[in-house]
Amino acid sequence: MSGVQEGPYAGGCQCGAVRFSVESFGRSSICHCRMCQKAFGGIGGILVTAKGLTWTRGEPKIFQSSNRAERGFCDACGTPLTFGAGSSVDVAVCALDDPSVAPPIVQLAPEFRIPWADDLPDLPGRPGSEAHKAAAYYASIVSHQHPDHDTDHWPPEGKAS
Ligand SMILES: [Zn+2]
Ligand SMILES: [Zn+2]
Repeated sequence: MSGVQEGPYAGGCQCGAVRFSVESFGRSSICHCRMCQKAFGGIGGILVTAKGLTWTRGEPKIFQSSNRAERGFCDACGTPLTFGAGSSVDVAVCALDDPSVAPPIVQLAPEFRIPWADDLPDLPGRPGSEAHKAAAYYASIVSHQHPDHDTDHWPPEGKAS
């Protein structure tokens, strides 16, 4: 696995109020610590060290989560966006427009891993009996999520903001 990957890479929050660009990546990791679980509302924090981070639309709100670190998130929709400690800043991998470009290569704080997190890849899919209902439900969804690319204007003309 090579070290630094060259960008630029774009990403942003779910509602589109905050967008960013990163010139290149350092190490991508998943952190299982309790603070990352809380901050992401998930099994942990998947973060990649960001070099040349610029905000291309809006800016995150900052929560000082400890004496050593601060976390940036969208004030409008709550999407976790950054983890900063000292002069280093990471961005949330799944906030990137293409999360596949920054695969984690190390687990941090594995002693805090939620026990069932290990079972997730082996869970069965939705039962076949639910498939028809699920398909109809998904077909009815009108997304208000920002698309996975930069936009000149957001939200689109004619939609409430
Ligand atoms: Zn947002
Ligand atoms: Zn953590």
